[in-house]
Amino acid sequence: MPWLGLGVWQIPPSRTVAAVTEAFRIGYRHVDTAAIYGNEREVGMAVRESGLSREEIFVTTKVPSGVLRHTRKAFEESLERLGLEYVDLYLIHYPGAGRAAAWDTLVDLQKEGRAKAIGVSNYTVRHLKELMAASKTVPAVNQVEFSPFLYQRELLEFCRSKGIQLEAYSPLARGLKLRDRTLTAVAAKQRRTAAQVMLRWAVQRECVVIPKSARPERMEENASLFEFSLTEDEMRRLDSLDEGFRTCWDPSDEP
Ligand code: NDP
Repeated sequence: MPWLGLGVWQIPPSRTVAAVTEAFRIGYRHVDTAAIYGNEREVGMAVRESGLSREEIFVTTKVPSGVLRHTRKAFEESLERLGLEYVDLYLIHYPGAGRAAAWDTLVDLQKEGRAKAIGVSNYTVRHLKELMAASKTVPAVNQVEFSPFLYQRELLEFCRSKGIQLEAYSPLARGLKLRDRTLTAVAAKQRRTAAQVMLRWAVQRECVVIPKSARPERMEENASLFEFSLTEDEMRRLDSLDEGFRTCWDPSDEP
């Protein structure tokens, strides 16, 4: 699974083919979509028209929590919209009602080879323990909100101990923290942007990142995270920014 992917939530369908095509040109090989983003069709189109072989590209999509009881149907519809033979990663978008049976369906889809890997999203330690008590198949990935401002250490440690890859969504905290003083000081020292430092921090904490941008110059900026590294001291300073800051929902209260 590539460490960097393009998140396409809130990229309107009319701009998705161009955005994903541009990302491939820059070197991205991983796209994160979902049924509820309304742009699977366009993601699939960009993949098919990219000139790249299917094996080179990693495509993730997700089953919406509202239709967990109809997961197989939701999967068929996603695959149909994508126009692909398989997805690289299929996730339960949110730990809603019916998630245990939905997980069993994902296990079947993986056995059938139509989802190369399966995982979950917005699962807390409690949700993961519940899943693992009921199923022998451990999720390959847990996609959760994660940034220096929401450093979910306990969840990260738990996932690491079980061999679950943590994937950071909203890794830029949607751009809302880019002026933070500590962050901009580290960025100035590194001669990098605050966005690059946030992404680099997550990757050095062993998280996959999927920043969203529809702007080519920002996609390129975000992809430069592999050209530098943060020192231990800088990592610790960034760790200290944790303030439980969420841009999305908090799944802790989900029964
Ligand atoms: P991000 O943290 O990726 O931030 C995106 C915002 O930051 C956009 O407004 C973008 O603007 C801006 N931005 C991007 N790059 C830069 C940059 N270099 N400098 C300044 N601003 C920048 O937030 P998202 O919430 O979009 O999360 C990313 C992806 O994670 C989503 O697209 C989706 O795929 C996934 N996700 C999954 C969720 C889940 O429940 N599983 C929930 C939320 C997100 P612009 O586009 O104008 O450049």
